[in-house]
Amino acid sequence: MMDRPSEPEASKAPRGEREMYTVVRHHLPLFDEEGRAAATDDEAGRDRHYLPDFPEEDPYAAGHRTCAGCGPAIQYRWVLKAAGEDSVLAGPTGCMYVANSTYLCTPYTVPWAHTPIASGGSFTSGMAAGYEAMIRKGRHPGPYPNIIVMAGDGSAADIGLGAMSGALYRNHDALFVCYDNECYANTGIQTSPTTPYAGMTTFTPFGKAIPEGKKLPPKNLAKMMAAGHPHCYVATTTVGYPVDLMNKTRKGLNHVGAAFLHCYTPCQKGWVYQTSMTVELGRRVVEAGLFPVWEYDPATREYHYFHPPVQRPVTDYLAMQGRFGHLLPEHIAALQRGANQNWQDIGMDVPALLREGEDPAHHKRLAEETYSMPLNRGVGA
Ligand code: SF4
Ligand code: MG
Repeated sequence: MMDRPSEPEASKAPRGEREMYTVVRHHLPLFDEEGRAAATDDEAGRDRHYLPDFPEEDPYAAGHRTCAGCGPAIQYRWVLKAAGEDSVLAGPTGCMYVANSTYLCTPYTVPWAHTPIASGGSFTSGMAAGYEAMIRKGRHPGPYPNIIVMAGDGSAADIGLGAMSGALYRNHDALFVCYDNECYANTGIQTSPTTPYAGMTTFTPFGKAIPEGKKLPPKNLAKMMAAGHPHCYVATTTVGYPVDLMNKTRKGLNHVGAAFLHCYTPCQKGWVYQTSMTVELGRRVVEAGLFPVWEYDPATREYHYFHPPVQRPVTDYLAMQGRFGHLLPEHIAALQRGANQNWQDIGMDVPALLREGEDPAHHKRLAEETYSMPLNRGVGA
């Protein structure tokens, strides 16, 4: 599947007296996305979502220590499956470090290094520059590895944002991933810049003075990264779309230069939902217009938006999570207005039902709202 020459290719272009070597890079083929929203029957006649054959290798091995249904763990597994065994990783402080690397035991079967929460970007810059130099000097025998940093939102959007932006700006050849669970989870569910409006955390409790909990809208991290670093490949994805997630991982790694991937990853401990609903939430957040999925192409400087086949009221998403259980009609209406703006921004019409949802009179308290919970997703659902 990958180009893996066993020896570095010696260039015949010496620089001074020293023989230099060419840096050979992997090219990872993309998975077939045709039929992503289609279904196929299994032997019992049940609908199964179409999935292509994935690699058998699993550099994120079974037996990890994160919570049941942990979105970041699912995301980590898909990213590493797409990247393959010739990968080296940096993990700034976050759940994927704290829960997963206890007492010298980790689920990572590839080289993985913990970095302080602020320095995932700078550490990864050093790795990228180091591999380039080692290969050119003939001291690393293989091709240039897949260099990836996996930072939580507390690192990528907040404490480590400066280092991350610096690495993107200098265009180091690496993939910078933000696994976004919309809170500081491993320290006890404190608010982060990507916590949504009205999301309850231990630092944004609801009460008489502030009935909605969090007052501010979330930081639009991915758009910041694309707008501020127009030479980089930037994309958003969720754990609801595994093939999309894996292909964007591969596109980011194939891009020669810096790439940034913002991945929505539910946290069942912090968001309070049924553990089996992680992937369902990954779709509903897109279908509710609250997390647009897109790709930014640095060659053309254009955004390409995914238009989901289903558009839902935000209540179909909010009502699945305890962190929104306190919402009043005016808070739901404010979230629907934001979602409708997102639909317009990505070039989709806003159905009348969703327009009506902008009026608080259209809602009850969230705990009393009715919402849909289909368990078997067929074609287009
Ligand atoms: Fe995963 Fe959340 Fe548990 Fe952390 S607290 S391991 S992000 S589910
Ligand atoms: Mg987080």
